[in-house]
Amino acid sequence: MSEYISRETVIAEIEKHLRIMGLTKHGIVYKTYSLAHEHIVELLRIIPAVDAVEVKYGIWIKEDYTFYRCSVCDQRISIVGNPTKYCPNCGARMDGRREDGDE
Ligand SMILES: [Zn+2]
Repeated sequence: MSEYISRETVIAEIEKHLRIMGLTKHGIVYKTYSLAHEHIVELLRIIPAVDAVEVKYGIWIKEDYTFYRCSVCDQRISIVGNPTKYCPNCGARMDGRREDGDE
């Protein structure tokens, strides 16, 4: 399974890491690291992006015989029979867990 990350989040994390280490452009300590940082950020900016939608994960909270509430959007929905695998209101996947095991 492919995993997607945010380009801006990666760049922000690299810059945060370099700030912590004192390697920012404004506080040049090690020019080599600073140039490497700029090159990495430049590469990250030119790598083509794909359209991806964040998957929301939730669970159905049973309220009574036919009504369930979505744990993500809090919408109350009447369901007869087995609850659906996706919330029709917000699109959340209703297995309560992510593919990587986190809940
Ligand atoms: Zn929902």
